[in-house]
Amino acid sequence: MALTPFAVAQAAVLRAVKPLPAVRLPLEKAFGFVLRETIRADRPLPPFNRSAMDGYAVRYADLAKGLRRFRCAGTLEAGAAWRGTVRPGECLKIMTGAPVPPGLDAVEQVEKSKTDGACVELMTEAPERWQHIHRMGADCKKGARLIAAGEPLTPGRVAVAASVGAAKVAVTRAIRVAVIATGSELVGTAIKPAPYQIRDSNSRFLMARFLEIPWTTASFGGVIQDDPRALRRALAAALKNNDLLIVTGGVSMGERDHIPEILKECGVKNRLYKSAIRPGKPIWFGMKGATAVFGLPGNPVSVAATFREFVLPALRKMAGFGTVIPPALRLPLAAPAKKKHTLREFRVACYADGGAAVAPVPGYQGSGDFVSAARSDGLIVIPEEARELPAGTVVEFHPWNF
Ligand code: AMP
Ligand code: MG
Repeated sequence: MALTPFAVAQAAVLRAVKPLPAVRLPLEKAFGFVLRETIRADRPLPPFNRSAMDGYAVRYADLAKGLRRFRCAGTLEAGAAWRGTVRPGECLKIMTGAPVPPGLDAVEQVEKSKTDGACVELMTEAPERWQHIHRMGADCKKGARLIAAGEPLTPGRVAVAASVGAAKVAVTRAIRVAVIATGSELVGTAIKPAPYQIRDSNSRFLMARFLEIPWTTASFGGVIQDDPRALRRALAAALKNNDLLIVTGGVSMGERDHIPEILKECGVKNRLYKSAIRPGKPIWFGMKGATAVFGLPGNPVSVAATFREFVLPALRKMAGFGTVIPPALRLPLAAPAKKKHTLREFRVACYADGGAAVAPVPGYQGSGDFVSAARSDGLIVIPEEARELPAGTVVEFHPWNF
């Protein structure tokens, strides 16, 4: 079968998957989920002229005239409103966060004051109107769009939503994911392998990856031998009640690579098989109804790379992200990179020069070398047509953590 160019392959996957329905969650349960509504300011922010210091509120005009001794009309704390009057020539003792009463338009900090009973002397040198006052509406006007639909609720955005009273928010419901590792050579972590066996690490990688993604819930469907009956049973079960299934291993051309055939038997319609990439060339993708299914080649680095390049964008589309493809960094290479083939290569790489550049992981042994891969920060992209990229070439860098 011909190899599908990467861009075509990724587009085929993204065309097939659709955003999942939204639900309304209490804000305290919504951290990390993708917003499906616009959050607007219900009042200006700050909602009133707010003192930014503990000190004294006065008239700027008094300060401008050179007045520095003021009679103190009273004290105003945060969380209270001033009901009295402050006449010209008077000041009001005020706390950080308290509303500066109408008519007053400058605050001097308590550190620059002296008091002798009823009078206060301010040591203001160059007075400015509105000094130490966070003015009403300075951050945003009432009705301003603060968070757009399609943005994930980071801690900062949760804080913004809280400050405008968004007690419940519409977000995409959690994406239900199932993970299955296949291969007759595989055993679980706690089992002592025979000399010809290896321990399953792919399912551990994927389950950990999903723990990092707060808008997914993942379940583990087991390590399954390359036995068609066992595979059929495990895949059919995992296709129920999940939005996405990831199967690792068994998609290449070996006699024991049953996954494409069995997925088709289970009613999954194939949309992509084999892309012109390295690692991950035999990637398989299909849909059963609204459930997306990835068969990822079993080499651990292939799993990490195809997850980053195909699965993650698909998940982000399902989650309702405005930016489906995670933004790439463009960084210069700190060391040269070469390749001999015409495939698009994703090579594990680390930040260099304090994050100003990237360097391929030295001594990296290819798609089976997950010890090196685990030391990396992400993938650099070596385009199809590139052969020799000298140090200094600006490349696309795809950090793992998105
Ligand atoms: P496959 O895609 O099944 O041909 O597997 C490719 C290579 O990846 C083989 O060397 C497998 O032993 C290895 N491999 C497959 N699945 C896993 C797994 N779950 N954990 C670690 N290595 C694996
Ligand atoms: Mg295998």
